Amino acid sequence: MTESETRNLDRLPSRRAFVTTSAAAAIGLLSACNSKPDETKQAEIPTAPQEPAIVALTKEARDQMTPDSIIAKLKEGNTRFREGRKIQRDFLAEQRATASGQFPAAVLLSCVDSRAPAEILFNLGMGDVFNARIAGNIENPDILGSMEFTTKLAGAKLVLVMGHSACGAVAGAIANAKLGNLTQLLAKIQPAIKGTKYTGDRTADNPEFVDAVARTNIDLTIANIRKNSKVIADLEKAGAIKIVGAYYNLKTGAVEFSA
Ligand SMILES: [Zn+2]
Repeated sequence: MTESETRNLDRLPSRRAFVTTSAAAAIGLLSACNSKPDETKQAEIPTAPQEPAIVALTKEARDQMTPDSIIAKLKEGNTRFREGRKIQRDFLAEQRATASGQFPAAVLLSCVDSRAPAEILFNLGMGDVFNARIAGNIENPDILGSMEFTTKLAGAKLVLVMGHSACGAVAGAIANAKLGNLTQLLAKIQPAIKGTKYTGDRTADNPEFVDAVARTNIDLTIANIRKNSKVIADLEKAGAIKIVGAYYNLKTGAVEFSA
C-alpha cells in the first residue's frame, strides 16, 4: 500500500461513516485494504443488506494505486474468499456508480472455466477489473488488443494471467483433441506441453501433469504477451504496469501469485 493510500484509509473513521460520506473516494479494490484479519477489522465487515459498503473504484483511488498494491489487494480479496468473510457487495449501487465511467485497476486474462470466476475468487465488485476469459487463458491478437485498450487507454496498472488446476483446455491439448475451431485454440497450448519438464506419465489422465502444463502455459502466455504486444511491453519497461501470473487451485480456493 502506498503512503497516500494509507492516509486515505486512515481518514476513514468507520465503514458506516465512509459509506455515508459524499466524498467516497476509496472504494472497490481500495476498500479491500480495510479488512485486515484482526477482530476489530472483521467486525467492520457489513453483513446486512442495508449496509452496503462498496460503490466503485474512482479515478482518484485507482490512480493512487501501484501494481504492487493492486496485487496485495487481490491477495487480500482471495484470502477473504477462502475464509468465508467476503465483503458484501451492493451490485445495484455499483451499477449506478459505474454507469458514467469505469477506472479498473487491472486487466485479467483467465480461463472460461465456470469454477474459476476471478471477480468472485478475489471478492471484487463492478468496475474493479477488466477480465478477458478464453479457454486455456492463451493470448491472441484480439486478446492483446483488449489488453492494450485496458492498459494504455483505460489506465489499468496490472496484467494478471490466471490459469487453474484441472483445466479442461490444457487436458484437451495434451490429449490432442480435435473439434471445429477448438483445434486451433488448443494448438496454442501445445508449446506449454513441450516446455513442461515432467518425467512421469505425460498424458491427460495424469492430473499432476495437466497442472504442471497449466503452470507452464501461464508463463508462456506472459512471454507471448511481452513478445507480441509492443504497447504492453513498453508500458512494463516504463514501470507503468506489471505483468504477473497466477494459478488458481480449484480444490483449495487459493490463488498463488508469481509475484
Ligand atoms: Zn481452464
